[in-house]
Amino acid sequence: MGSTPRRLEGKVAVITASTQGIGFGIAERLGLEGASVVISSRKQKNVDEAVMKLKSKGIEAMGLECHVSLADHRKRLMESTVEKYGHIDIVVSNAAANPSIDPIVSMSEKALDKLWEVNLKASVQVVQAAAPHLSENSSVMFISSIAAYDPTSSLAMYGVMKTALLGLTKALAEELAPRTRVNAIAPGFVPTHFADFLVRNEEARTEIESRTLLRRLGTVGDMAATAAFLASDDSSYITGETIVVAGGMKSRL
Ligand code: NAP
Repeated sequence: MGSTPRRLEGKVAVITASTQGIGFGIAERLGLEGASVVISSRKQKNVDEAVMKLKSKGIEAMGLECHVSLADHRKRLMESTVEKYGHIDIVVSNAAANPSIDPIVSMSEKALDKLWEVNLKASVQVVQAAAPHLSENSSVMFISSIAAYDPTSSLAMYGVMKTALLGLTKALAEELAPRTRVNAIAPGFVPTHFADFLVRNEEARTEIESRTLLRRLGTVGDMAATAAFLASDDSSYITGETIVVAGGMKSRL
């Protein structure tokens, strides 16, 4: 592996749900490429620990508690970023919940509400909160999923929310052009806390690996590298698109 490029010098990135897993990996990669990164999650303790980790790698970072469903948290996240760094160039909307593995036909209203609130409505609202502060030549990203294309069994309604993010990407790309590009990443399966069955259940892991062409699970680094590309001028003619990062798992033509 070559050294990390420095494509994001002078850029300011806000990443939601970023104290571990894919969000943290994206924050770390954007930071190593020269961006100042603002991380957040529901728990201040997790935020503090993650900021320390980033700073220990020489990354300019700050962190705030931000539950994406809370309007005052979202507002404070964006305003504190602008107070400290002056502008926002990159927004990564990464939070999601998967509160139920029930089939759609029997899913409770509570679970349906949570899926809509966290996975979709908050994604819209994070962009609404950032929009007044977005710089010329900015980049917004949603973290969708391979389940957006294949919403199977236990991931069914969660997958439908991720499909909706593909539509949101298209719609916002049109609304925010030409100042801001809007794209999405659809990860395959990555062994994080969110997908800890991949760590716990060897059979499930092997089955998923066998559905990839590259015969392995994804890594946080795979997702972070794609996010850095979409944040950088290397993708300056790409907007409204979703990049599937899933080792060749079946997604679309
Ligand atoms: P993860 O490792 O469990 O990390 C989740 C992060 O989100 C944590 O930092 C958590 O911190 C924070 N968080 C959770 N709910 C939040 C909320 N309501 N508001 C703010 N922060 C919140 O999860 P991950 O696997 O990296 O997943 C990240 C994204 O990738 C999600 O959108 C997920 O759907 C997507 N994705 C994951 C996979 C996979 O295989 N892992 C595949 C496809 C797509 P606190 O607990 O401190 O809040």
